[in-house]
Amino acid sequence: MEMIRSILGSCLRDFFYAPICCQCSRALESPVSPLCLSCELRLPYACRTFGQTHNLQARLAGRTRLAASGYFLEFRKGSSGAQLIHQIKYDTALNLAQYWAQVWSRSLTFEGIWQKSILVSVPPNRWKSRLRGYHAACELADYLGEYLGLDVNHNLLNRKWITRSQTRLGRSDRWDNLQGVYRWSGAPIPDTPLILVDDVVTTGATVEACLKILQKQTAQPLGLLSLAYTV
Ligand SMILES: [Zn+2]
Repeated sequence: MEMIRSILGSCLRDFFYAPICCQCSRALESPVSPLCLSCELRLPYACRTFGQTHNLQARLAGRTRLAASGYFLEFRKGSSGAQLIHQIKYDTALNLAQYWAQVWSRSLTFEGIWQKSILVSVPPNRWKSRLRGYHAACELADYLGEYLGLDVNHNLLNRKWITRSQTRLGRSDRWDNLQGVYRWSGAPIPDTPLILVDDVVTTGATVEACLKILQKQTAQPLGLLSLAYTV
């Protein structure tokens, strides 16, 4: 009787608490990934290595001293990939961010001077991140730093004050909205390459504003890693 009760209890536990896919809510085949195989195969993974020959680099070319960049996922607004990024940004799906950082880091190699890089996350709107309890770009930088063996610093680049949300603005409005928002804290670090980390790049106005601050602080190359790039 005791054994039957124990088996029944275990079945009920599995039924109610079995890990489910972030996307379709079906039970997961493997505890390693927060996505089921079917959802994972349908995602627009870009798995871009860190370099110069892709759309994100082309979009930002000539505007800053950005030397190399990379992104993991390429999506259109409203797609399944976009829904998952929304979960990471707003619904605490940090297990998914960690899983993607781990997978992505296997495709990223940093050689020569890049091995001395510091990862700098795009700073949060402090009021919003306090309400949410976290900031996706900071969490992502921490995961990437861990898997890539690179230093992370969240205090070098800060956001000055609360501004209008960028979400519904076009490129030129975003640029106007961002003027003077970011600032550098501390002394310049001329010998250190800096790699900016963001969760998603849409128009590129935010990362451009941040890169313009970073390029005044180092004589070494600048990089950019964004989990997703909106095409
Ligand atoms: Zn699924």
